[in-house]
Amino acid sequence: MHMYDVISHKKNGNALSGKEIRFFIDGFTRGEIPDYQAAALLMAICLKGMDEEETAALTEAMLHSGDFADLSSIPGIKVDKHSTGGVGDKTSMIIGPIVASCGIPVAKMSGRGLGHTGGTIDKLESIPGLQTSLDISRFCDIVRSAGIAIIGQSGDVAPADKKLYALRDVTATIDSIPLIASSIMSKKLASGSDAILLDVKTGSGAFMKSLDESITLAQAMVSIGVRFGRRVMALITDMDTPLGSAIGNALEVQEAVDTLRGQGPDDLTAVCVELASYMLLLAGSERDIESCRQKARSAISSGRALRKLCVMAEAQGGDISVLTYGFKEAPVKSGFNAGASGYITHMDAEACGMASLSLGAGRVRKEDSIDYSAGILLHKKTGDKVAAGEPVATLHTSSDGKLREAEAILSSAITIEDSAPAAAKTIYAIVSEDNVTLL
Ligand code: URA
Repeated sequence: MHMYDVISHKKNGNALSGKEIRFFIDGFTRGEIPDYQAAALLMAICLKGMDEEETAALTEAMLHSGDFADLSSIPGIKVDKHSTGGVGDKTSMIIGPIVASCGIPVAKMSGRGLGHTGGTIDKLESIPGLQTSLDISRFCDIVRSAGIAIIGQSGDVAPADKKLYALRDVTATIDSIPLIASSIMSKKLASGSDAILLDVKTGSGAFMKSLDESITLAQAMVSIGVRFGRRVMALITDMDTPLGSAIGNALEVQEAVDTLRGQGPDDLTAVCVELASYMLLLAGSERDIESCRQKARSAISSGRALRKLCVMAEAQGGDISVLTYGFKEAPVKSGFNAGASGYITHMDAEACGMASLSLGAGRVRKEDSIDYSAGILLHKKTGDKVAAGEPVATLHTSSDGKLREAEAILSSAITIEDSAPAAAKTIYAIVSEDNVTLL
């Protein structure tokens, strides 16, 4: 078989066979297929697409390119959750403890932030001492004893995806549904959980900007998961505006704690209760979604879920005093005020993420270090009424010099108009194996 023929086959709009896809992934992972041929095939896939069979074959080939996490020593149905990424998305630190405090083991592997989106691992590491690089046997020990652990991708999980993703990032081939679906699902399937809830974001801060595209991506991922014998569902949730009020690592952990105390922002609390409820449903904790919701709400109101977060953080070596007494604040805090009176009709999530990045909260390149205390606290969100000069946000950073760029980005991110916008939804749809329910 020749790579030239595989590229040409896809370029002409044909479906690739499983053999062709394995030839590509195996050869590329071993370094036998050069980047220029891989990039040509990726672009052909972007332009011509892939059907369900091809997407499943691509997922399977990437899944078998590296290690699997064997979680069989943990009793019960292990449940995982994956978000396609967003700004202010601290849901894993809230719903993981909710679900674990209801007796369902949560074994979660998460990623780091890159570009405008944050990552759960960076957020958790703002808790001093907390370890996220644990081997699988220690990971399983903690899930067995604490009921939950959240670690970075351990071992050599889906190395083909790692290599391909880096190439996609520089060849404008990220935004292809079969490529995104197979990339995410190869890693999730290798992580070993029995059930997976997908949180597919939609809107200005998401990969998928339109609801239709987000639903198509969710359907592709659900169908891959089911094909590989997992229980999988997806919720389509809003990422047109940042989730909650905090953007930035320690600020987001603090907001997660506030939410577990029952004092979180309404949008974040609503999304977390719903995600946690569907995780409980997938794990078979209750028969119907309303009972799962009651269970999730009571995990928050009883304080059980917050205690579970503390147990997990301590088991992973973290100094949990910050969860009780708060984090050290950034040395520079500066107000960002409304430039006009009216209603906030749009708050571009991606731009808010970029503003937080410029304050030091994220990394542009993988090797950059992070300022855990940096970020943005929003006092107003889309739909709120503001008067000119009223504080919309507080910027947290290490030096005055970092403020100007963030302020310029935020000014263009926030639109203020005379009339109130239509009320925004936090959850748009639920996607299961054979159903899409629009809300
Ligand atoms: N996240 C991934 O892991 N892969 C993609 O392709 C896009 C988002």
